[in-house]
Amino acid sequence: MHSPHKTELNSEQPMDTQMSEPSSEPPSQPPSQPPSEPPQLQNDNITISPENQPQNSSDSSSQQQQQQQEQDPNPNPTLPRKRRRRKKFFTELTATTSLSKTRKNDVAKDCDDEALIAISVGFPVDSLTEEEIEANVVKTIGGSEQSNYIIVRNHILARWRSDVNVWLTYDKAVKSIRSEHKGLVDVAYRFLIEHGYINFGVSPEIKAKKNSSFDGIERGSVIVIGAGLAGLVAARQLVFLGFKVCILEGRDRPGGRVKTKRMFDGGGGGDGDGLVAAADLGGSVLTGVNGNPLGVLARQLDLPLHKVRDICPLYMPDGKCVDSEVDSRVEVLFNKLLERVCKLRQAMIDEVKSVDVPLGTALEAFRRVYKVAEDKEERMLLNWHLANLEYANATLMSNLSMAYWDQDDPYEMGGDHCFIPGGNETFVRALAEGLPIFYGRTVECIKYGSDGVLVCTDGQQFRADMALCTVPLGVLKKESIKFVPDLPQSKKDAIHRLGFGLLNKVVMLFPTNFWGGNIDTFGHLTEDLSMRGEFFLFYSYASVSGGPLLVALVAGEAALRFEMMSPLESVKRVLEVLKDIFHPKGIVVPEPVQAVCTRWGKDEFAYGSYSYVAVGSSGDDYDILSESIGDGRVFFAGEATSKQYPATMHGAFMSGMREAANILRVTKRKSQSSVPFNATTNIDEENDDLDNLFVKPDLSFGSFSALFNPNPNDLDSSSILRVKIGGAVSNSPSLYLYALLSKKQVIQLSQIEGDENRMRMLNHDFGVSLVGKKGLSSTAESLIANIKLLRPQLNEAENGLVHGKDSCIMEE
Ligand SMILES: Cc1cc2nc3c(=O)[nH]c(=O)nc-3n(C[C@H](O)[C@H](O)[C@H](O)COP(=O)(O)OP(=O)(O)OC[C@H]3O[C@@H](n4cnc5c(N)ncnc54)[C@H](O)[C@@H]3O)c2cc1C
Repeated sequence: MHSPHKTELNSEQPMDTQMSEPSSEPPSQPPSQPPSEPPQLQNDNITISPENQPQNSSDSSSQQQQQQQEQDPNPNPTLPRKRRRRKKFFTELTATTSLSKTRKNDVAKDCDDEALIAISVGFPVDSLTEEEIEANVVKTIGGSEQSNYIIVRNHILARWRSDVNVWLTYDKAVKSIRSEHKGLVDVAYRFLIEHGYINFGVSPEIKAKKNSSFDGIERGSVIVIGAGLAGLVAARQLVFLGFKVCILEGRDRPGGRVKTKRMFDGGGGGDGDGLVAAADLGGSVLTGVNGNPLGVLARQLDLPLHKVRDICPLYMPDGKCVDSEVDSRVEVLFNKLLERVCKLRQAMIDEVKSVDVPLGTALEAFRRVYKVAEDKEERMLLNWHLANLEYANATLMSNLSMAYWDQDDPYEMGGDHCFIPGGNETFVRALAEGLPIFYGRTVECIKYGSDGVLVCTDGQQFRADMALCTVPLGVLKKESIKFVPDLPQSKKDAIHRLGFGLLNKVVMLFPTNFWGGNIDTFGHLTEDLSMRGEFFLFYSYASVSGGPLLVALVAGEAALRFEMMSPLESVKRVLEVLKDIFHPKGIVVPEPVQAVCTRWGKDEFAYGSYSYVAVGSSGDDYDILSESIGDGRVFFAGEATSKQYPATMHGAFMSGMREAANILRVTKRKSQSSVPFNATTNIDEENDDLDNLFVKPDLSFGSFSALFNPNPNDLDSSSILRVKIGGAVSNSPSLYLYALLSKKQVIQLSQIEGDENRMRMLNHDFGVSLVGKKGLSSTAESLIANIKLLRPQLNEAENGLVHGKDSCIMEE
C-alpha cells in the first residue's frame, strides 16, 4: 500500500468527538522520536572516532540539504504533522510483530547518526536481518561479534551514503576500522555490495564500475521478464554480480507502471517543440525519502526533490471550502473509528485466530454504533477519508482485509513525500541504459527443469540457467503466462488471495495555472457515496512538471466505472467538478490544452495498478509470492513480492536487489554441490564454428556484422547477419542474435545510419526477426559449412577469443 495524502491521526488535535470514550482506553502514543543529540556510539571493542565519520565536504550544499532531508527522520519538527492515515495501528496492537516492536524500541534507544541511517534503510539497530543471517555474516547470533559487525556495517553504509556518487572502495571502507576487525569489514562490505545497499545507482562512476563482474567470476545466465523498476534494478545488479542477462519486455518501452507522459501544447509534435509539461501516469510520489533508494538515484542524477506540501484544502460540492474545525474533527473521528477496528481485530486475532472481515464492514458497523458523522457535511467528509484509503490501497473498502490491510505500516519509509521534477521516467531511462532489453516480447510460457529454463514468447524461445519473473500480480492472476511444470499450489493460492486493485488518473494540461501556486493538493467532496473516489483529490504538478498541469485521481468503485467511460466524458466530468470549485470564486476554468485518462485495469501488461491485502489474505502471501520455484530456477520480484514495501516504486526497486542477491546465493550454493548447473554452456558448444567465423566478418557496421556466401557475384545469395545486443554494458559478456538475409539486404542495412534505424529496416522493411544460433535454419548450417571450407586460414588463436563466451542466453 502506498501512503495516501491525508488523514493521519493527529493525537495533538482536540478530541472533540461524538464517540464516547471509555476511560480505560490508553492514550494515543505519539511515534517515538530519536533523541535530539545522539551520543557517540561506542562498543567495547570498536570505536569509530569523529574524524573517521563520513564527510560531506565534497557534496554541494543543495545535495547536503537533500541528503539531510533523506536521512533525518524528522527534518523540521516545527512543521505541522502530515495529515495522513495513521500508521501505527498494527504495530501497537499486534503482539507478534516483533520486528516492528524492535524497531520502535530501537529508535527510542540512544543511537548515533550511522545507526539512524541504517534504520532508515531498513536495518534493525541491534539485531541482524534475515538476509544477513542467511549470508552467515557472523558465526554466532547475538554475541559481541554481532554487535561489532553491526557497527562496522552501519559505518560502511553511512560512509557510502555520505557521497553516493562515488564508489566506496574496500580500502576506504576498511580505513577507519581497527585492524583486528578487518574480518568484519570483509564480511560487511561484501554483504552490502552483493545485496545492493552500497555502490548502487546511476552516477557515472557507479555505472562504469557496475558494467562488469565485480569479482571477475562469470556466473550463469538469467532471463529477466519485465523491464519495470524491479526488472531493471535486478538486471543491472546481476550483470555486476557476473551473470549474463537479457530482459524480455512485452511493451515497447521500459518502466512498466512508471510512465511519464510528455504533454505538448497546441500541435507540438513530440520532437521537443512545444513540450510544456511531464506527468506521471503511474507511480508518482516518493512516499518517504529517508533511506529510499530512489532518493539516492535522485541525488546521483542531481534531481531536486519537491516536497508535497501538507496543505490540502477540501471543497464541498458547491465549491465552498470545508470549515477547518469541522475538517479536523471528522479527521479525528475517522481515525478513532480505525482505532476501534484495530482493537477489535486484535481481540479477534487473539481469540479466533483466522477470522477476517472487510475493513469497510467493520468501520461502517462502528460508525453506526458510535453515531459518527450523521450530518450531511460530516458524512461527506468521512467518505472523503474513505476514498483516500481506497486510493492508498487501490481498492474498495469492502475488499480490504480488516486484519492485515496495513501490515506494511511498521516498515513505512520516513521523511517527506516528494515529486521528482520532470517525472520518474528519468530514473527508468538511467536504469535501462545499456541493458540488453528485447521490447515487444510478450512472454507466454516459462518452462523450467533441472537443466535450466526455456522462456517462450510469440514465436521465439530463449534459454538460460535461470529466469526472474517480475510481471505484475495482475498478469499472474490472469494466467497470461503458463508455467511448466505448473506453479506450486501454495503460490497459486497466494496469487489468488492477494488483491490487485485499481487507481486511475486524469492528467490535464491547462493554458494557465488557475488554481494557484501555493498548494500541491486539494480535495473535493461528493454526496454520491458510490462515486466518492471520483476526482476526490487533485495533484498540482505546476511546480514540478514544467507547466500548468493538474492530475485528478479516481479511486474505489469510481475507478472501475471510469474504465467504462469515454475519455471525453471523463474529462467533461472533471471540468464540471473544477468549475463547481472555482467558478463561485470568480475564477474561470479554461478548457485543457491536452488531457490523458489512464486505463490501468485494461492494460494487458498490468491488469490493475498495485497490490493490496484482500479479505482472507495476509502479509505472508507477499512472502509466498517472492519464493523461487524449481529448485532455484525461477525467481520472482516486483512490488507484489515485497511484504515490507508493497505497492510502491521503492518496494519494486528493493525486490529487484533482493532477488539478484538471492540468485547469486543459490548459484553459489549449487556450484559448491556436485550437481552440474550450467546446462546452457553445453548447449552452446556445438555452435563454436559460427563464433569462429565471426572473428573476421565480411562486413561490419555498428553492432551489426555479416558473413557472405563465398560466391562474390550473387547479390541474392544468403548471408548470415549477427547483431550484438546491449552494447553499452561494454564489459559484460556479449549477447548475439542472428538472421539469414540476402547479401543485397545486408548491404542496404550497412548504408543506413544508426543501429536503431537498421533494426527498424530489418523488422519492418525486410520483415525479419532475429533469432539465437539454434534458431538458424539448415540453410545457415550449409552456408556455415561452405564458408568454413573456404576460410581455412582462420587460426586457432582467433578461435580462442570468442570460444563459448557469447551466447549463453539464446533464442531457439
Ligand atoms: C496509477 C498508479 C499510481 C501509483 N502511484 C504510486 C506512487 O505515488 N508512489 C509509489 O511509490 N508507487 C506508486 N505506484 C506503484 C508503482 O508504480 C509500482 O509499485 C511499481 O512501479 C511496480 O514496479 P514493478 O517492477 O514491480 O512492476 P511493473 O512496473 O509493472 O513492471 C513489470 C513489467 O513486466 C512487463 N510485463 C508484463 N507482462 C509481461 C509478459 N507477459 N511478458 C513480458 N513482459 C511483461 C510489464 O510491461 C512491465 O514493464 C502507482 C502505480 C499506479 C499504476
